[in-house]
Amino acid sequence: MAGEGDQDHAHDGEASVPPRPCPVCGKPAVFAARPFCSNRCADVDLHRWLRGAYALPAADDDEPPLEADAKDRGE
Ligand SMILES: [Zn+2]
Repeated sequence: MAGEGDQDHAHDGEASVPPRPCPVCGKPAVFAARPFCSNRCADVDLHRWLRGAYALPAADDDEPPLEADAKDRGE
């Protein structure tokens, strides 16, 4: 009487996650080089990151305080 139709539900264990696209070239990523599609793309991204880190402006005080000066001379 009981125990029928219960095995139809035991198919949920394996959830295959679809591979994300490589952020560098857009190809589907592989497990070995996540989140990239290959070690080469991982290298490209690393170099980009390093370049970006070095290209960041070191000084933030490049703008002269014009407003403060104008306010002082206005009186
Ligand atoms: Zn790639």
